[in-house]
Amino acid sequence: MTAIHINAVNKVFASQGGEVVALRDINLEIASGEFICLLGPSGCGKSTLLNAIAGFSHPTSGRILAGDKPVVDPGPDRGMVFQEYALFPWMTIEKNIAFGLEVAGRSPAQIKERVDFLLNMLKLQDFRARFPKELSGGMRQRVAIARVLALESPVMLMDEPFGALDALTRRNLQDELLKIWKEFGTTIVFVTHSIEESVYLADRTIVMTYRPGTIKRDVPITLERPRDPADPEFNRIKRMLGELVMEEQQRHENAERLTATAD
Ligand code: ADP
Ligand code: MG
Repeated sequence: MTAIHINAVNKVFASQGGEVVALRDINLEIASGEFICLLGPSGCGKSTLLNAIAGFSHPTSGRILAGDKPVVDPGPDRGMVFQEYALFPWMTIEKNIAFGLEVAGRSPAQIKERVDFLLNMLKLQDFRARFPKELSGGMRQRVAIARVLALESPVMLMDEPFGALDALTRRNLQDELLKIWKEFGTTIVFVTHSIEESVYLADRTIVMTYRPGTIKRDVPITLERPRDPADPEFNRIKRMLGELVMEEQQRHENAERLTATAD
């Protein structure tokens, strides 16, 4: 079954220096339960594509379906986790997780059961009465994930969610995310510019080109989990993806050099 269907999507931004073609002719089918990474250097359109799937912005042309419904705006069927923890600073952790359920009109008993379950699952029980600013970055990102899981969104969209974390915390959260993904059968679209992270996590890594953002390569990763970054096959894939990303990084730098000379 297809969870997300992306068909001939283009996105053009009007900016001061003229038009920026952020996405060109993106075609992608994401199967239900699949873990997809969007990989590429900064500026290649990863967030633009993710925001279009989320319904925060609209393609200039083409269309996106979630299940069999056209995406017109954000919805509880597509939860988003940002790099910057988009938590309500004035609410406790517990309230932050419960918020979406309250808005959805669930009963207090249902909300309590769900929130307790998630606090336990994400090892946040001892922090339920704390406020976001009292938590570490890794903990806050756990809360952001719990908030999306609270709504039982079948699709989770994640924009460099672990980019600001130290290496150890990052690996822990990656492992927890994989556990959640397996347990809930969630479809995950995960943006990263870390090649390692994409090889560690993804069923399929989509490498994007630098401006205009197109799909450069669609790379299935079939290594068994848990994956071992010391494994030779892991490293072979990492090197192959590294070369693809490097080509685009180079194009990025050349483009900037040209702009600088033109000024
Ligand atoms: P990434 O997430 O891969 O770093 P983005 O999707 O944020 O890339 O951006 C892709 C391109 O679109 C960039 O060149 C960026 O400058 C441009 N862009 C993104 N958002 C806007 C906007 N709101 N207005 C104008 N240009 C934008
Ligand atoms: Mg981005």
